[in-house]
Amino acid sequence: MNIHEYQGKAILKEFGAPISAGVPAFTAEEAVAAAKTLPGPVYVVKSQIHAGGRGKGKFKELPDNAKGGVRIAKSIEEVGAFAREMLQNTLVTAQTGPFGKQVNRLYIEDGSDIDKEFYLSMLVDRVTSRVSFVVSTEGGMDIEAVAHDTPEKIISFSVDPATGVMPHHGRTVAKALGLTGDLAKQAKQLTLQLYAAFVAKDMAMLEINPLVVTKGGELRCLDAKINFDSNALYRHADVVKLRDLTEEDEKEIEASKYDLNYIALEGEIGCMVNGAGLAMATMDIIKLYGATPANFLDVGGGATKDKVAAAFKIITSDPNVKGILVNIFGGIMRCDVIAEGVVSAVREVGLKVPLVVRLEGTNVELGKKIIAESKLNVVSADDLDDAAQKIVRAVRKEAA
Ligand code: ADP
Ligand code: MG
Repeated sequence: MNIHEYQGKAILKEFGAPISAGVPAFTAEEAVAAAKTLPGPVYVVKSQIHAGGRGKGKFKELPDNAKGGVRIAKSIEEVGAFAREMLQNTLVTAQTGPFGKQVNRLYIEDGSDIDKEFYLSMLVDRVTSRVSFVVSTEGGMDIEAVAHDTPEKIISFSVDPATGVMPHHGRTVAKALGLTGDLAKQAKQLTLQLYAAFVAKDMAMLEINPLVVTKGGELRCLDAKINFDSNALYRHADVVKLRDLTEEDEKEIEASKYDLNYIALEGEIGCMVNGAGLAMATMDIIKLYGATPANFLDVGGGATKDKVAAAFKIITSDPNVKGILVNIFGGIMRCDVIAEGVVSAVREVGLKVPLVVRLEGTNVELGKKIIAESKLNVVSADDLDDAAQKIVRAVRKEAA
């Protein structure tokens, strides 16, 4: 689960990390009122969306030469003017995809006098099964280019969970950032604070980009991007409250109500599969035959007819879906339940695209019978390879 920058900063502040003063705002009036509580004379108006690259982003509704989603304002009036330009408009950044995201919240922050911009992130490294730190002196808005062109400028190390974070980890961070004296001391302290926050809140990723040194000689977290481990949310009611549903894919929210493992993707073939492994294999084979999957969907083992129907409706509600492939290997999941769910969903919402169904395993004959007797326009397939070829061909034919 992701949260907004200002929410992330509030969490880091609880752990003592150095954060600038700032206030969230939902309207231009609130933005002006927020600025009045800050020291000034420079304010930063920051779009709050669940995506990075805001500074270099562009608003769809504004001219090309308009400023991006993070703007420096030199007066309270300018804060108001920027807020009016940004709110309710659509910000497109390198991370939002071409459709962009509507800006509904702003964060009005005290402007920092920046001397240097560093990069610091933490994540759970699956290879070492440890929390890793990634740091670089080359922070700011071009970190992706640094990773690509000069990877040697990025330093990473992991923390042994048995010992937890140690003073030497702090020294490694300070050294990697080329800091000495009081700034090195601040970096060591920040390392301990961020690790404590990361572990206590079950984060999956924490990215501070930029981590800045101010002209006044202070280290400060100027941006904060946090992703939490969804499997641990049950023990963080405070974090769950921060969820902003307007930032999430509607289809994924609907799927989570039915406990379906669904991830929206950008392709044209909707997939309904049981088992994550089979779902991955199905996506692979669709690609092999030259098309792309519109989603990952594992309906799980004990799915009911209603759950299957809900899954089918979610798939058909996606306007990008030009064909649907149902691929079920009935083990615990029975083929007749899948067939009933599909038939009932089609009766309710109709079927405007080709549908290929491949059923195998428990109660397969009954499942096939239910589909045959439904008189729905379904193409049946015998195995995965056959099914994938049939749906890809059907979608091509529709497009032609
Ligand atoms: P994003 O990563 O989405 O572009 P950031 O929060 O990193 O958004 O802001 C982009 C840039 O704006 C930063 O790299 C920094 O140079 C500048 N910036 C952000 N917040 C402040 C601030 N409080 N004071 C001064 N400059 C800031
Ligand atoms: Mg940033």
